Amino acid sequence: MSVKKKPPPVAEGADLFGFVAPKPPSPQDQLPPYPNEPWVSAASLGELDSMICNCVKCPLGHTRTKFVFGVGNPKAGIVLIGEAPGAEEDLQGEPFVGRAGQLLNKILEAIQLKREDVYICNIIKCRPPNNRDPQPIEIDTCEPYLWKQLEIMMPKIIVCLGRVAAQTLLRTTAGLNDMRGKVHDYRGMKLVVTYHPAALLRNPNWKKPTWEDVQWIRKMYDEMK
Ligand code: URA
Repeated sequence: MSVKKKPPPVAEGADLFGFVAPKPPSPQDQLPPYPNEPWVSAASLGELDSMICNCVKCPLGHTRTKFVFGVGNPKAGIVLIGEAPGAEEDLQGEPFVGRAGQLLNKILEAIQLKREDVYICNIIKCRPPNNRDPQPIEIDTCEPYLWKQLEIMMPKIIVCLGRVAAQTLLRTTAGLNDMRGKVHDYRGMKLVVTYHPAALLRNPNWKKPTWEDVQWIRKMYDEMK
């Protein structure tokens, strides 16, 4: 009787010859290096803030009232990232303190979180005049500060609030609804996407899908603890 030989075990993802193709680099692995500037060696958020808060590397540095670094718990497992400070944020030096911020507080309450339980910041740290969209040069200049913040905190989950934050971090032109409901990888951290609170103020129909997004995010966070 002939006994059929089992093929030898192969590594996961290997072809018939046992060859495992290297994983293609993600767009975030191809980010440019940090600029050669002293703040790159900051060891804490406080140290980083004090080293960059007088930044005038882009024109927004000359028109802002206050530099809006970020707020919350530096050890938070969840970091929420918006687009750019608005008028109220510019005056107070704190992200999400205007109308959109009040709504963000309510969204957090709906999943039993307070502002102090999470960390909140933006893609760029200074207000664009008249609340216009941040321009590519402003994002390119400012984004390395955010990379450093995330590298210091290494949160479990990054929540992008709105299209601009998500498209910037994921290096994509995908629409918001293509990015929602998926767990993206951002340099080894989980990144998820939901609506920007300011968009919900304009279109209350998006509150329900946002509620569903944040319940899902909360569940994922609890399962990671
Ligand atoms: N919108 C944002 O994206 N960020 C803020 O800080 C406030 C409003």
